[in-house]
Amino acid sequence: MQFGEFAGNVAAKQQLGAMIDAGRFPHALLLEGEAGSGRRMLAACIARAAVCREPDFTRRPCGVCAACQKTTHPDIVTFGGDGAALSVDTIRRLREEAYVLPNESPYRVMILAQAHTMTPQAQNALLKILEEPPAHVLFVLTCNNRSQLLQTICSRCVCIPVSPVEWEEALLVLRRLLPQTEQAVLQQAHALFGGCVGRVVEGLNEGVWQQVLELVPLMAAALVAPTEWPLLQLTARLEKDKTLTDGVLAGLQLVLRDALVLQYGGGRLLSTAPKEAQSLAGRLSGQRLVSLLEQTEQLQQAHKHNMNNTLFLTRLCACLRQAAGS
Ligand SMILES: [Zn+2]
Repeated sequence: MQFGEFAGNVAAKQQLGAMIDAGRFPHALLLEGEAGSGRRMLAACIARAAVCREPDFTRRPCGVCAACQKTTHPDIVTFGGDGAALSVDTIRRLREEAYVLPNESPYRVMILAQAHTMTPQAQNALLKILEEPPAHVLFVLTCNNRSQLLQTICSRCVCIPVSPVEWEEALLVLRRLLPQTEQAVLQQAHALFGGCVGRVVEGLNEGVWQQVLELVPLMAAALVAPTEWPLLQLTARLEKDKTLTDGVLAGLQLVLRDALVLQYGGGRLLSTAPKEAQSLAGRLSGQRLVSLLEQTEQLQQAHKHNMNNTLFLTRLCACLRQAAGS
């Protein structure tokens, strides 16, 4: 993959382009953005640019040289990214790997995915090598939010924010990645997954989308059911799937937004559950709807910050039922 194929994020691409054109990287880069925003893809692209053999720096990664053609490159090592917390032992192994001299390129690239899942001990262990990094190493860290990392780690990295992408830009990439999917479905999924191309692809590929379509109307109805039991039962289905939870929360926001639009006399509806939006508009006051919308937004933020999912779902039920006055 080349930088041009990475959707949106013009400022990030310019910043990285300047480093590549100069043929010089800092010792550590920190890619900060929410899950699904493309941090891993960008990290892989940076790593390829660092090991690419194309003599014209401005064309790196070229995609055609021997280094770019390798499926796995011996000078690119990845740690983390499997969802498990990064322990101090993992960081010790990373440190050992970092001192190995590069095989065939000027850099040894150490990708540390989901760096925010490092334990405090692991962060301290990483700090030691960031303070005096071997000259040949380029660290590429990814994280949800740099506030979850030690300030001393952040200050030793060049931080590059990776953002969700506007629909028009996302469409260019999504058409290529999901050529069989209808544009209307892509657009709805783009809205539901907050412009994160990675999550749209994951959501549509893994059948999460069908579950979102099924769950959003049921949950919208359960907000105002006589007891909290239906909502509790439905949220239990979200327990093991964070992408599904994201999609459902975003879907509920669209239903609530539509309900408000209907109360104010109509307009273009965006949600996948217009009947439920109509019903909520008839049953709840505008104030209740606004309060529900605020609650779902706050819950979405809490969810992004890696809160324990079971606790999160219990909180979700209580907050939403209360906001709906049920
Ligand atoms: Zn190349």
